[in-house]
Amino acid sequence: MEKISLYLVPTPIGNLGDITLRALEILKSVDVILAEDTRTSGILLKHYNISKPLQSFHVFNEHKALQSIIQKLKQGETLALVSDAGTPAISDPGFLLVRECLKNNLTIECLPGPTAFVPALVKSGFPTDRFVFEGFLPHKKGRQTALKQLANEERTIILYESPHRLLKTLEQIQNLFGAERLVSVSRELTKVHEETCTGTVSEVFVHFSKKEVKGEIVLVIKGNDKRKPEEEV
Ligand code: SAM
Repeated sequence: MEKISLYLVPTPIGNLGDITLRALEILKSVDVILAEDTRTSGILLKHYNISKPLQSFHVFNEHKALQSIIQKLKQGETLALVSDAGTPAISDPGFLLVRECLKNNLTIECLPGPTAFVPALVKSGFPTDRFVFEGFLPHKKGRQTALKQLANEERTIILYESPHRLLKTLEQIQNLFGAERLVSVSRELTKVHEETCTGTVSEVFVHFSKKEVKGEIVLVIKGNDKRKPEEEV
């Protein structure tokens, strides 16, 4: 079997039980763990009794760190990349490193594991046969345009959203997609205060207007799908 140089290892998005046996084995076996936040990952690794050198790898140093990491891998070291939560490279650092590894004929492996958008999509009850993951919308410039472009999207749409922008986004969806468009908001997945609220965008807006919105959020929007419910798969 080909030697794996870099493993991308998904970590829990809340519930510490959500890590695979293979993820733990890999984290125990590598030379160095690249971590988005060495403190956050340090706490996680301590919980699983894993003691490994950690190296910081985040959005602010990933360009700069790339070549020295590639050199280490070329010298035969095996590295794992973890992010603060979920799957690395999904709205988190990782893509640049994967691309650079492939350019240098270094073999990578991405373990399957936790990521926030899959449970949110499945829990929405909206069609899962075709969906589009948009990650975070631009915060200011281009936000309205990005949403406008999605208004006629037929596939189920998935967005990552911050709690303090949720109501504004729901309001924009009401205006651009119509108040009857179905949406599903999953908050704090796998955690104590996990909640999924599904309904028309106006109903969901009212629900979240009642108190301050807190925690981590995935917003799922039903596509502008002309299929009748019995035709949906
Ligand atoms: N790499 C992660 C993944 O695989 O899902 C995503 C990282 S991104 C920086 C963080 C965003 O993911 C949060 O703002 C939220 O939108 C979503 N998220 C992460 N954990 C979540 C959770 N437990 N419940 C709901 N959304 C979550």
